[in-house]
Amino acid sequence: MAEKNGSLSITSENIFPVIKKWLYSDHDIFYRELVSNACDAITKLEKLGMMGDYELPADYKGKVSVEVDPEKKTIKITDNGIGMTGDEVDKYINQIAFSGATDFLEKYKDKGSDDQIIGHFGLGFYSAFMVADLVYIDTLSYQDGATPVHWECDGGTDYTMRDGNKSEIGTTITLFLNDDCLEFANEYKAREVLDKYCSFMPTEIYLTKANAQTEYEEIDPSDKKDTDTVVEEIHQEAEYEDKKKDDGTTEKVLKTPAKDKLKIIKRPVPINDIHPLWTKNPSDCTDEEYKDFYHKVFMDYRDPLFWVHLNMDYPFNLKGIIYFPKINSEYDSIEGTIKLYNNQVFVADNIKEVIPEYFMLLKGVIDCPDLPLNVSRSALQNDGFVAKIRDYISKKLADKLIGMEKTEKETYEKYWDDISPFIKYGCLKDEKFCDKMNDYILFKDINDKYVTLPELLEKDAASHKSEDESEEKKNDAEKKEEKSDEPIKDEDKTPVYYVTDPKQQGQYIDMFKANDMDAVILDRTIDTSFITQLEHRNQHYKFLRIDADVTKALSEETDPKELEEDQKTLEEIFKNELKKDDLAIKVEKLKADDIAAVIGRDENMRRMNDMMKMYNMNGQADEDFSGPETLVLNANHPLVKYLVGNKDSENAGLIAHQLYDLAELSNQPLAPAEMSEFVRRSNKIMEILTK
Ligand code: ADP
Repeated sequence: MAEKNGSLSITSENIFPVIKKWLYSDHDIFYRELVSNACDAITKLEKLGMMGDYELPADYKGKVSVEVDPEKKTIKITDNGIGMTGDEVDKYINQIAFSGATDFLEKYKDKGSDDQIIGHFGLGFYSAFMVADLVYIDTLSYQDGATPVHWECDGGTDYTMRDGNKSEIGTTITLFLNDDCLEFANEYKAREVLDKYCSFMPTEIYLTKANAQTEYEEIDPSDKKDTDTVVEEIHQEAEYEDKKKDDGTTEKVLKTPAKDKLKIIKRPVPINDIHPLWTKNPSDCTDEEYKDFYHKVFMDYRDPLFWVHLNMDYPFNLKGIIYFPKINSEYDSIEGTIKLYNNQVFVADNIKEVIPEYFMLLKGVIDCPDLPLNVSRSALQNDGFVAKIRDYISKKLADKLIGMEKTEKETYEKYWDDISPFIKYGCLKDEKFCDKMNDYILFKDINDKYVTLPELLEKDAASHKSEDESEEKKNDAEKKEEKSDEPIKDEDKTPVYYVTDPKQQGQYIDMFKANDMDAVILDRTIDTSFITQLEHRNQHYKFLRIDADVTKALSEETDPKELEEDQKTLEEIFKNELKKDDLAIKVEKLKADDIAAVIGRDENMRRMNDMMKMYNMNGQADEDFSGPETLVLNANHPLVKYLVGNKDSENAGLIAHQLYDLAELSNQPLAPAEMSEFVRRSNKIMEILTK
């Protein structure tokens, strides 16, 4: 070919300074672009071989080598792929690739910062000019009789193309780095960048440093491969050591036997794994492989809890593995990582858009060749296709969890505390997910057993004081829910009792246990919102904190008239003594006869207050308004009986006040002034005892 000088067909004066500036923050991406071009060239040649259009040499093995030379300030990327003819260089490099770069700039010049752009696909070959002042292409096409081509361009708009001297089929790209980018010729930096982008590319990639000292290794002769270069045959003599015998003499015993070894030039090791686990069939992968892959990719020494292998061909192509990591506590601030790949080429970390927000704490890899990659993040967010991917992943994760609950109940229970925050958060954020998970959410009950909501409702209905009535109620409520939009009244709903603080609410728990009633522990911050969400979706039941409805849960059936008199008397004593206008007094015959008084708290008011506290909406932090209280007095208890019979006794007020404080104490901590008063009164009561 006669030397050909030309001008790249571009519109702007000089596009390269723009490329450099534009992609400043992640110009290491040129490695990805050039190495993935090299891999593509190899894949293309292998395809031609497979289709019989080209006869691959018998020992052909696709290989990309990256050679860095810090002294010469160059990087050479060589592949033994398809190569290019002069015409192809002209077409693909001088015209097409360049117009790709121009399009890219055209599209993104008005967009904000660099990280708005996911990947820079399409920029391809010209990304080389982000780091290099001068670039060579030396290439020889696989085609019969092809002439090698040398192309060079110094980052201006002009290039030179002439016959080259490449003798092997394939392409070498040589970058002469500009002074700002010399770090990329550093072997360690190069390895870091290649690890980031090329770890799972489908062709073996080797990194070498020019003029590096040869490294050697010793191998067993039986392990020798044809490709090994033997530099020395080593014979190690057997070694003996002296050993004392019982009779005092010594004898020589064999320590290490004679051995033959071969010293060879160290075998190169590819930097990448060409068959990453996600590309394999899930049924061919072992637990160990999944764990190893996790440790390696996410640099987390802990084992993941479990994982989901995604493998979908239709209607879109998506493969990946999503891991549930171990989270130590609710407050453990771990960050999830979802690594996104496009045909085994790394695209980006933490693409929040492809995974439901509530699963952001998970770690995983997703390979989706169909994803539009060279678009901005904000566009991804509104992309219908991305939304489908998100739905698919969310469905798969829910399926996995449900499957576990059904078939590996023990494992599911074991991990529940770790995974429940994701699931609860997921239920809050995604209605579809909530519907799916509704019956598979576990609740730990006051007996330390895990129950699902349906199990709990069954159990509750069975132990409820009037079984039939409660069943009827539930059915009525369900019927109502089906038939009309009319909201179901709270009192018609089946109650699900819960505990927010097992220590503080111990007295109530004891009462429940004594009456064979169950309640579940819901002690996380998220639970208040979570149960509100569950109620919203399951109108026939109502969550009630264990102190919300004490009388309904624990009173004996009594004729209302029977306690009317007592009610009046006690109301008078307590109102006079406590002077709390908003305190309701209720006299009941409680099933627990060792409890004199308990506090009941309105569920809705209390929950609202908790929410406000959570969002810090109630101004002064110490102002604790937990809603109106009811003091339930047990008509069966001797102290209450005493008060009824001795309302004018000089100690009636004292006893009443003490009863109230004790009931309060079993419900929530006393305010400081009340606590001092309580201690003072308790002492006084003991003094009376000593008189
Ligand atoms: P893209 O890879 O997105 O097509 P590039 O600018 O990276 O864009 O490359 C343009 C074209 O140049 C490629 O499609 C390919 O035909 C050709 N090319 C680039 N690098 C090589 C290579 N190492 N071997 C063979 N052809 C190559």
